[in-house]
Amino acid sequence: MPRLTIDLGIIRSNVRAVRDLCAGHGIGITGVTKVFCGDPVVAKAFLDAGVTRLGDSRVANLRRLQFLDGEKWLIRMPAPSEIPDVVRYADVSLNSEWHTLSLLSEEALRQGKRHKVILMADLGDLREGYVDYGELRRVAQMVVRADGLELYGIGTNLSCFSFIHPDTGKMRQLLGLAGLGNETLSAAADVPMSPVAFVISGGNSASLHLMMENGIPPGVNNLRLGESLLFGKERCHYTYLPGTRRDAFILSAEVIELKEKPSVPWGEAGVDSYGNPPPVREDKGVRSRAILALGKQDCDVETMRPVDGAVAILGASSDHMVLDVTDSARRYALGDTVEFELGYFALMRAYTSGYVEKVYVG
Ligand SMILES: *Cc1c(COP(=O)(O)O)cnc(C)c1O
Repeated sequence: MPRLTIDLGIIRSNVRAVRDLCAGHGIGITGVTKVFCGDPVVAKAFLDAGVTRLGDSRVANLRRLQFLDGEKWLIRMPAPSEIPDVVRYADVSLNSEWHTLSLLSEEALRQGKRHKVILMADLGDLREGYVDYGELRRVAQMVVRADGLELYGIGTNLSCFSFIHPDTGKMRQLLGLAGLGNETLSAAADVPMSPVAFVISGGNSASLHLMMENGIPPGVNNLRLGESLLFGKERCHYTYLPGTRRDAFILSAEVIELKEKPSVPWGEAGVDSYGNPPPVREDKGVRSRAILALGKQDCDVETMRPVDGAVAILGASSDHMVLDVTDSARRYALGDTVEFELGYFALMRAYTSGYVEKVYVG
């Protein structure tokens, strides 16, 4: 069975490094748990390293986290069909629809709670959030008046759909919308809001680069971070952050066929299931090819790399991965395991796959 080895010690030290880096800029962290399916063991490592807020896009994952301390954020807009569980398992949610907010308010009252709301502004990435900032302000007033809700903050998300980079202008715009600038959300809402308590959430791991260049103006006090905590990588220029490691997650799988084969296929080529023709293969003569008991259902070949740098991934189908092991100093044998360092999407698939065993170290 393929195995995912999760080094909790590396994760804790990465989280501490990123947390300290952000603290130096007056920014707190919401640790995002979605890529590891809200695994409470890894989420606990976030808390142990000093994170006090956990965020996930799926209510089912927040449910897995219910026995852990920490404020729980639903970082995807709640679905109208899942409101009772949103109120039950999330203290806070990110929102952009008044209808959903009205349902949340009613349900919170029913459960004897007040649900905290962060309103999302779309600053150009064209995923979630209001593009009509007048409407955002009106909805903020409605949230303040709703008995089951508390207006907790404002947020934006960038670099996820259109890969629009965060910049200082957009961060200032967010502050403006939050009421620290000229246009005041709090005044519009007729309630004084302490700027300290009010969450101003300036984005995800793609905002770290701007932060390190001192490009995030004071007042923005939160980032929602997943990838950077796990891999120590900011997501704007994909550089590694000081004091972090990238090898917290290692996937290993077993060699189930090992043969000398030609490097070019023969016969008439068709297309893959996306309709794409297969890649053209360079003729390197006869090569040692290994097949692993691992496939696209368990990982993503484009965001992983063999720990043995002389091994090349030739490709994968849903359940077979084909490697070229000719150039390796190691003599691979049938039944050997081959290890990979994972990136974001490979980790997401490995975690989600029920065919991958999870093992914790550290
Ligand atoms: C996934 C997600 C994040 C975390 O993104 P990373 O790039 O992993 O830091 C933050 N905010 C929202 C709304 C998300 O969907």
